[in-house]
Amino acid sequence: MVQRALTILGATGSIGCNTLEVAALHPQRYRIHALSAHRNVEKLAQQCLRFLPRLAVVSHAEDAARLSGMLKGTECAGVTEVLSGPKALCQIAASADTDIVMAAIVGAAGLEPTLAAAQAGKRVLLANKEALVMSGALLMDAVRASGALLLPVDSEHNAVFQSLPRSAGQGLGACGVSRITLTASGGPFLNRPLSELAEVTPDEACRHPNWIMGRKISVDSATMMNKGLELIEACWLFDAQPEQVDIVIHPESIVHSLVSYVDGSVIAQLGCPDMRVPIAHALAYPERMASGASQLSLAQVGALRFQALDLERFPAVALAYRAIRAGGTCPAILNAANEVAVEAFLGARLRFDRIPAFIEQVLNAVPSQPAATLAAVLSADAAARDVAGKLLRPGYEGKLP
Ligand code: NAD
Ligand code: MG
Repeated sequence: MVQRALTILGATGSIGCNTLEVAALHPQRYRIHALSAHRNVEKLAQQCLRFLPRLAVVSHAEDAARLSGMLKGTECAGVTEVLSGPKALCQIAASADTDIVMAAIVGAAGLEPTLAAAQAGKRVLLANKEALVMSGALLMDAVRASGALLLPVDSEHNAVFQSLPRSAGQGLGACGVSRITLTASGGPFLNRPLSELAEVTPDEACRHPNWIMGRKISVDSATMMNKGLELIEACWLFDAQPEQVDIVIHPESIVHSLVSYVDGSVIAQLGCPDMRVPIAHALAYPERMASGASQLSLAQVGALRFQALDLERFPAVALAYRAIRAGGTCPAILNAANEVAVEAFLGARLRFDRIPAFIEQVLNAVPSQPAATLAAVLSADAAARDVAGKLLRPGYEGKLP
């Protein structure tokens, strides 16, 4: 078996750690070429000692110096080169010495390295949905131009990918697909009285009923902006119109998403809620390999429930439909506003129930432009962050609708 080289962007996060666990089950298939982390040098050092990558990248030079110090005199000495900064991330993503890139940085910081991996024609495993939301046209064009293989790791999109025929690349209509339905657990506040949402704390918002994830995506799941970002992600990945993508609440997170066909057939992918399943699928595709996850027992689960999405409870989803319909840089503006809002909520500077209205104000304030270049996308991101920053100044909150 040919051993393939794997780069993990965001190795110390929830997806990054799960990816390393899956890869560790199959040492004959994968060797770790490069790992990256933002600030968690301790965890990255442990991962380096266990997986002996050629390269390790952190965001800041002082952290690189600390990491080098920690690896001195260990098995990594002379094996692992430590680099820092955004250019180094693009370097490990596009390196001729790597075959597979797991894009698992959270947020806009993942955009440029993900794009670099796509431009270099890699097998790109996409967890970093924000990159695709921001620059859907650019990323999909880069994939087509380079012949990269873009495989979704987000559980819903991985489920859709598995439920589509192989010929789906020719367009959904041509292979008889009528709709895509993304499932959503509803998050921790599905049944919380709306009047109590003003008081919820970051820890409550991050306590997801079914998944253990990083804090940003956990808050996104609580507001359901996560499903909004996933709607946009689905439109780009599967060349779907927003009208072709439905969302249904499914509190058990067992049915990960569904594809409906014109003849009335519906094909879904099911499994335990464990990210190692889509990670192993995307790593091994088109083969199958063990992921370490438990097998699903429907008898044990008992009942699967589904209910319609309530847009009054989750207005963030309506904002995402608006952004993808508007096109251009509007999804990048939505994403940036959301990133600022989530950070502010986690820092106790914005109330949970005000997040959607906050994002809406940014969408209203920043004009959408064509998103034909990386510069245009980054400039929209910066403009949205600028407006969002101003909205957060003390005294402003009271003026929100
Ligand atoms: P996380 O917060 O646990 O990990 C994020 C990783 O990115 C860490 O390694 C961190 O060091 C790195 N990072 C953070 N900021 C950075 C920056 N400015 N520059 C460079 N690196 C930076 O997040 P996660 O839950 O693993 O999610 C990662 C991505 O995968 C997100 O886009 C998320 O939406 C997506 N995703 C996650 C899950 C999940 O179950 N966790 C499921 C589906 C999709
Ligand atoms: Mg998801």
